[in-house]
Amino acid sequence: MRTERNIMKNFECLGLNPALAKSLVHMKYTTPTPIQAQAIPLALEGHDIMGTAQTGTGKTAAFAIPLIEKLLNNPRGSALVLTPTRELGKQIMGIMHQLLGPKSPIRTAFIIGGESMGKQIGQLRARPRLIVGTPGRINDHLERGTMMLRDTHFLVLDETDRMLDMGFAVQLEKIFKYMPEQRQTLMFSATLPKNILKLSEKYLHNPKRVAVGETNVVARNIKQDVIRIEQDKKYNELMSQLHDRNGSVIVFVKTKYGADRMAKNLRRDGFASEALHGDLRQSKRDQVMQNFRKMNFRVLIATDIAARGLDVPHIEHVINYDLPQVAEDFIHRIGRTARAGAEGSAISFVSNQDGRKWHAIERLLNPNAANDKGSDRKSSKNAKFRRGKKRFHRGKKKAA
Ligand code: AMP
Repeated sequence: MRTERNIMKNFECLGLNPALAKSLVHMKYTTPTPIQAQAIPLALEGHDIMGTAQTGTGKTAAFAIPLIEKLLNNPRGSALVLTPTRELGKQIMGIMHQLLGPKSPIRTAFIIGGESMGKQIGQLRARPRLIVGTPGRINDHLERGTMMLRDTHFLVLDETDRMLDMGFAVQLEKIFKYMPEQRQTLMFSATLPKNILKLSEKYLHNPKRVAVGETNVVARNIKQDVIRIEQDKKYNELMSQLHDRNGSVIVFVKTKYGADRMAKNLRRDGFASEALHGDLRQSKRDQVMQNFRKMNFRVLIATDIAARGLDVPHIEHVINYDLPQVAEDFIHRIGRTARAGAEGSAISFVSNQDGRKWHAIERLLNPNAANDKGSDRKSSKNAKFRRGKKRFHRGKKKAA
């Protein structure tokens, strides 16, 4: 049955709890983004949701608003948000705290790997009603008996495809076992491969499907360019790109070691840069992200795991120095720019050795073009990229 709530033009029409409504005004969220307009009314009505949205679409608030509304309107019960990476978890926790407001009676716990167990046990003893965290550490607490989820009737799985890619399937299954079967589950994923659909069939009850745009399409306001280049010329090309462009840049590389080495080399060559990858201590990762947010340095060199889901509004350019191992990550990477309607650009360096990976990315972005077995030149996608390349060279000349 469709209700007034299904037609959501602004947040006011939802009649949200005054504390939450006030936070939204404070955060200057007046008009819901398309994924919010679809998901929030359904979640408030109690439905399970299987959601796909392009990156940067306001997905976090799409689940955070109904979650907090339910916590505020019920004296009991708690909610759990599972997220693949620590950085993404921090961002979600940040949005949750903004939505809860400064004097909220609702206690929270942030349970991620790489941080002190003692501090987390303290937070858990205080009976939090909202827990945000990564599956590995949450599972540790459940197994030690330092966390209970018997009263947790609201579950969010964010970036589920990434959680599965990172090997969290086992932990997720274990976590589900600690939770009541009677619960509301909102599952979000940027892509919908078979393993996600299976998971949703198993753990969601008659989920409503919400989607913004085509699942595998990148945000439209990202200008994409591809540069065919030999491996050993990439570094010089990177420097010339950095010279020619203004604004914050994120450069994706394949390995943790490569990220460290490139940040060092760029600093030597006069570009303020730092590396972000999974081998850094958590405090160092936090420090790097904080400095990048504050624009204390311009170029962030990152591996895929560390950068998933990051929301740094001022990132203007994404450079794929190495192509991702998994084609889907291409979409996530370039989703780091052009956040919330801003403009952005993405450049991909494609070497002779990258043929297979590049074809996989092209197939993902444009399945119809992939059916065309002709050469690169025949593919409409490549035509777009060729145009892109020309654009890039024009831009470069102008800048030089
Ligand atoms: P997300 O896709 O959740 O990472 O959100 C992308 C960006 O959009 C974040 O900076 C949010 O703060 C912002 N945002 C989300 N929803 C709204 C809204 N309704 N109005 C204005 N900004 C929003």
